Amino acid sequence: MQRRAASLAADRLSDAAGRSSADSGTVQWAATMERALHARDQIGVEDFVLLEDYRSQEAFVDNLRKRFNADLIYTYIGPVLVSVNPYKELGIYGENHVKEYKGEAYYELPPHIYAVINGALTSLVEETRDQCILISGEEHELRAPAGRICSSTRAELVAIRGALEMLLRLEGGLAESPVIVCADSQAALATLASESGSGKTEASKKILQYIGEVCSRTGAEVRSVRDRLIQSNPVLEAFGNARTVRNDNSSRFGKYMDVEFNFMGEPTGGHIRNYLLEKSRVVSQAPGECNFHVFHLLLAGASDELLKELCLERDPKAFNYTKQSGHERDGMNDADQYHTVVNSMDIVGFGSGEQRDVQAIVAAILHLGNVHFQDVDGVSCSVDNAETTQRLAKVLGIPADSMQRALTHRTIEAQADVVTTTLGVEQSVYARDALSKAVYDRLFTWLVRRLNMSLASHDQGTRHSLLGILDIYGFEVFKSNSFEQFCINYCNEKLQQVFIELTLKSEQEEYLAEGIAWVPVEYFNNKIICDMIEMKHTGIVSLLDEECLRPGEANDMTFLNKMTQALRSHAHFEFRLKHYAGDVTYNVKTFMDKNNDLLYRDLKDAMAKSSNKIVQDIFPASELQGKKMPETVSTQFKKSLDQLMTILMSKEPSYVRCIKPNDVKQSHKLDTEVVSHQVKYLGLMENLRVRRAGFAFRRPFEPFLRRYKSLCPDTWPRYDGPARAGVHTLMKHLGFGDDDYSMGKTKVFIRLPKTIFEVEDRFQA
Ligand code: ATP
Ligand code: MG
Repeated sequence: MQRRAASLAADRLSDAAGRSSADSGTVQWAATMERALHARDQIGVEDFVLLEDYRSQEAFVDNLRKRFNADLIYTYIGPVLVSVNPYKELGIYGENHVKEYKGEAYYELPPHIYAVINGALTSLVEETRDQCILISGEEHELRAPAGRICSSTRAELVAIRGALEMLLRLEGGLAESPVIVCADSQAALATLASESGSGKTEASKKILQYIGEVCSRTGAEVRSVRDRLIQSNPVLEAFGNARTVRNDNSSRFGKYMDVEFNFMGEPTGGHIRNYLLEKSRVVSQAPGECNFHVFHLLLAGASDELLKELCLERDPKAFNYTKQSGHERDGMNDADQYHTVVNSMDIVGFGSGEQRDVQAIVAAILHLGNVHFQDVDGVSCSVDNAETTQRLAKVLGIPADSMQRALTHRTIEAQADVVTTTLGVEQSVYARDALSKAVYDRLFTWLVRRLNMSLASHDQGTRHSLLGILDIYGFEVFKSNSFEQFCINYCNEKLQQVFIELTLKSEQEEYLAEGIAWVPVEYFNNKIICDMIEMKHTGIVSLLDEECLRPGEANDMTFLNKMTQALRSHAHFEFRLKHYAGDVTYNVKTFMDKNNDLLYRDLKDAMAKSSNKIVQDIFPASELQGKKMPETVSTQFKKSLDQLMTILMSKEPSYVRCIKPNDVKQSHKLDTEVVSHQVKYLGLMENLRVRRAGFAFRRPFEPFLRRYKSLCPDTWPRYDGPARAGVHTLMKHLGFGDDDYSMGKTKVFIRLPKTIFEVEDRFQA
């Protein structure tokens, strides 16, 4: 059966190769096809629903491998695209490929990201339905305890999810939940691998590239929108991406981008939302990892004059925030990148004054990292190297003494009293790093706002359709997991919910539209997990916030106790959790601190005095007047996720599930264990099961009849009747029983892929 599936796939490839070989630009693509054809039996099925043994993860991974070895990195699960990072250029994204996929139904050509975006755009234009493309991959990692501070904190969040899922199972609400079952958790843990670098960001870039190509021949206005959309990427990546152990260009923030289209399907504007930047990276990085690109780019690429103005030295080793990694960077490349980013900023519309202000902030953070403190009497300290604070003050346009005082003192307003205390060395270091993180984080948010200003559509009068692209961090499991992991995994939990709801919804809708009876599919619903995190009063976020409101009395331990109590009814809640990805220990240490994310008012005060326009904007004096407690990080995050969910649920989704083939960034290497874990964590088997629960194979009448009509004397060589009746005649002639298939309004639905292979076989014969 496998062989037949392969022949079906190969056949389609052969069609595609035949078509594209006419175009000289597609030589490489045709070559790929050639190879695929020679390896007919080896290339696997191009839609997992055609796998006979669809419940076997082994068969699933095996199919992925066959395809990967043939340079076929894309495979469908129905409408979901599974993508394996090839770690090499495949030559399948050129203009000619855009042309080839444009306007074609997805099943007419080999699986491709262009088919997904083309499908979404077609539906957007023809049905004026808003679309979203959700790109995800999972991140599971066993990291040494010395791992980056933020990473280790992130991992804990995963643990909660694990706990919650475990609870869910214990609660007994679930008959079968393939998403969460892990037969041998210990073994799984030992081989946990990271899937950062699975190709999510590249996929989102390919989508923008496709949008850019399909509209490249239209007017100047559209081209300018396209350029700004595309050029916003290098800017965001310079500030939001960094080199990590797993990915030289790892996104350290979540991103959702809406592209607006007019009724002709031309882009007219865009809007970006950013989520949870890993700001701890500004002040510390794990061994072998770097700070955000921009710090290195500025040092390598700025002219001597600019460096002098910013009081910087060119050597990254001169700064505490850039010297930790010990990683030798390619200075030439960094300098090139710097110019690329400046060029992008020009295109997007940043003025030279703005660019200068941004550079000054980046420089100021580097200086801030070099400020040292000297103990005075155990409870107070002074700045040890005053020349550094002077540079910092000069760059930001703040009086140097205000800066020094703000770094070593803390003022508290309690009712009518204003009390100022001194800070010890440790507290001052903490305040300094908190300031660096806050400044960078706010700068990043400012950048996104600024980009949005230049992406805003000027064409307000007419109706727009939206296409959203979500490129967000996957589920994370580290050796030590903390608050950041909590947020990230909470986010993934929500996305999983959207995924399940929308997948089932669209299946159901299709059945309904086609007039076919819907039999409910049993699936794992993770709502209970989301509830446990976000429930009012008793949810984890509420409990954490409550503790954060009791400064002095509450601490991480009281939070833990509260949580244990509140969740007591769930008798098995523990902190060592049997996550589906293995046992994960969830460490509450620093939870409160990170959730509060306090910045002493003295520092805000000092910043508000800056002559730098952006600093004035991101540290408004009004913030100091408000007496209201600022919202906690988890509550803010929860709100932004709620908004995101509303946005996604209102759109028609397409999915791209990214998989990393190995942990060593190598091409031609597919590590079974690494891939198996991702297949499991991404819930792909569950996805396939749901897809196969009803009718595995469906096609519109016309293309179905076109392909198979020669098998029936009533439809061959001539058939002039309606396609639906033709297909019906054909099915009867082929011996399909009433249970084997169903006739919809526009499509034929076939229950078992086996039967379609049999037809294929006859067809071949
Ligand atoms: P992170 O979660 O760390 O942000 P990611 O999933 O966004 O990771 P990418 O940055 O998209 O990963 O991909 C990592 C690298 O893999 C890219 O820099 C590129 O070298 C390679 N890569 C990814 N997708 C492709 C592709 N389709 N073709 C060729 N190379 C690719
Ligand atoms: Mg990325």
